[in-house]
Amino acid sequence: MARAAAPLSFAAVGDAPLSTLSGVGARVAEKLAARGLVTLQDLWLHLPRQYEDRTTIVPIRLLRPGIAAQVEGTVEAVERGFRYRPSLRVAISDESQGTLLLRFFHFRAQQVAQFAVGARVRCYGTPRAGGNGLEIVHPSYRVVAEAGDDALGERLDPVYPAIEGIGPGALRKLIGQALDRLPDAEALELLPEPMRAALDLPSLRDALLTMHRPPRDADVPALLAGTHPSQQRLALEELLAHHLSLRRQRIALQRHRAPALATAGALAQRLRDALPFALTGAQERVFAQLRHDLAQPHPMLRLVQGDVGSGKTVVAALAAMLAVESGRQAALMAPTELLAEQHLANLRAWLEPLGVRVAWLAGKVTGRARRDVLAAVASGEAQVVVGTHALMQDAVAFDDLALAIVDEQHRFGVHQRLALRDKGAGGDRVPHQLVMTATPIPRTLAMAAYADLDVSAIDELPPGRTPVQTVALSAEKRPDLVERIRAACAEGRQAYWVCTLIDDSDEVIAQAAQSTFDALSAALPKARVGLVHGRMKASEKQATMRAFKEGTLDLLVATTVIEVGVDVPNASLMVIENAERLGLSQLHQLRGRVGRGSAASSCVLLYQSPMSQMARQRLETMRETNDGFVIAEKDLQLRGPGELLGTRQTGLAAFRVADLARDAALLPQVRELADTLLADDPALADRIVHRWVGGAARYASA
Ligand code: ADP
Ligand code: MG
Repeated sequence: MARAAAPLSFAAVGDAPLSTLSGVGARVAEKLAARGLVTLQDLWLHLPRQYEDRTTIVPIRLLRPGIAAQVEGTVEAVERGFRYRPSLRVAISDESQGTLLLRFFHFRAQQVAQFAVGARVRCYGTPRAGGNGLEIVHPSYRVVAEAGDDALGERLDPVYPAIEGIGPGALRKLIGQALDRLPDAEALELLPEPMRAALDLPSLRDALLTMHRPPRDADVPALLAGTHPSQQRLALEELLAHHLSLRRQRIALQRHRAPALATAGALAQRLRDALPFALTGAQERVFAQLRHDLAQPHPMLRLVQGDVGSGKTVVAALAAMLAVESGRQAALMAPTELLAEQHLANLRAWLEPLGVRVAWLAGKVTGRARRDVLAAVASGEAQVVVGTHALMQDAVAFDDLALAIVDEQHRFGVHQRLALRDKGAGGDRVPHQLVMTATPIPRTLAMAAYADLDVSAIDELPPGRTPVQTVALSAEKRPDLVERIRAACAEGRQAYWVCTLIDDSDEVIAQAAQSTFDALSAALPKARVGLVHGRMKASEKQATMRAFKEGTLDLLVATTVIEVGVDVPNASLMVIENAERLGLSQLHQLRGRVGRGSAASSCVLLYQSPMSQMARQRLETMRETNDGFVIAEKDLQLRGPGELLGTRQTGLAAFRVADLARDAALLPQVRELADTLLADDPALADRIVHRWVGGAARYASA
């Protein structure tokens, strides 16, 4: 990791613990810490979620239901009731001849005393239509001595996201104190002046003060939407900090050495010659990139994105041949046993005829077999090692791991990727890394999330694939669907029926899959129906999958265990139950199980009414496009990046201010700024990272 930032005045102030504020004892500090608020800077960045305008007094007559406002009036009448529950009703009127009712259901005797007839009160709240004109329930209020006595504020009042155990007033005071200790603009600022001027954004200090205490004429809708220049200023610096932190990790990685796999490529060529198909242009291009990277004496770190069925595996196998031809080892790790087994089957079929020894390591490989595999891996006899997480266990030692391949990266955390990489580390040497994912990530997002990786895309499907036809069908139409499956199976087509539930428990889902299996078996007496779910033994699952793949089953009822990577080209019908509950990328992954052969395929999204607006949009998107990148963009809009990428993977959801979906337009600028800073002033770059990412960046220290 980079050097620690030099202690600077801003850092000293921003890093000061909250206990330096008055009113923060151990108890309050603990409540704040529970929300991740530990330093003064954390409070600076705890931004309001709403504002209240107490800068003017609205004549009561001009109040409108539903629109919050501040009024001031004289108490005309007070009434206490106990009929159903205690209640206090206070009628006030003002010079506009308007009358307003204030209603309280919780109150103290002392409050009742305050509302003497003739007292002057100023209150704030949202009026609604009541039985006798407008009323405000539980307004915030205070008694003022005389009309116009108290000066009005110049600024809007912030309303902060609530923190358990700390009242809104107390929180506002604490944040106010923290803001009073903001260093002056120059001391606080990190972005060089010319940069800031070019961007036409306010200074950090001004941006923070505007967010917390906007002037009365501020563009509140923009502040709340996050499009205000102040908010953009904060978001920009935060995105920049994250981007810089990833870039620095990359620079650190580049300082390591890796075995240069600069071979003639004869083995890879033999594999290509033996394949029953020609590589697509996209596969050629990506393999050429990999080959170039692998020939360097520095570690490759490349993400290969390719839609489901785009043929990533064979590209990985070709890359592995470069390691093997150099007399070294390659490892391929997949997130599920099913997927790893499929890779194993493919690699064995492709590589063993070439005399390449492929070893298998998964959790269920135990005892003698395991000892043998470990020995073969350690001696180098195993040239390519395929497996699951088991590959990362301590007992696994490679002779000379030169290339670590991780499939379906989104299922793994960064830590796991690094753990596999570390298997090949020795001295200052690390292996090359190839990461493959079928979850396309919008380009902008990839830039932010993977600034530490090179990204290539296999953006072309093998020829002869017909796009999958997708329809959405109400669950009531299930009988028609069963009929359709009967017809398809009679024609020798194969179908998947995927059961999903909102409940995440394996057991409940397994039960649902079981009952669907029972029902479908009964309804389709002629069809051969199989079942796989997460609760089954791996050997049973595997046997069923194999039977389906070999065509001795017509219909496979499954849970989402089949989501990733399963390849049965003859399957051409996919039914997804409760499709309204799944996210776009999961739906896309599931749909990708069909349309892998030459037969025209279809996907039926069964939904339960009523559907939320968001669910409707998702299904609409699925019907409109098969393009994983388009779907990813839509997913980003609908869900936001945290969910899209998974927090585990990137820590991106940890943004305090920025929102990648909203602020994506800033990313090209961010990249440019980062280039300039890294070239001109790396120490300053470190300070920016320290301010925003600080300890959080350690999750992925390279
Ligand atoms: P994914 O990118 O989803 O992992 P796979 O690597 O599983 O895709 O490939 C999907 C299927 O396409 C496999 O059966 C594979 O053998 C086949 N395939 C890969 N490349 C080609 C190609 N260039 N032409 C035809 N079929 C191909
Ligand atoms: Mg795959």
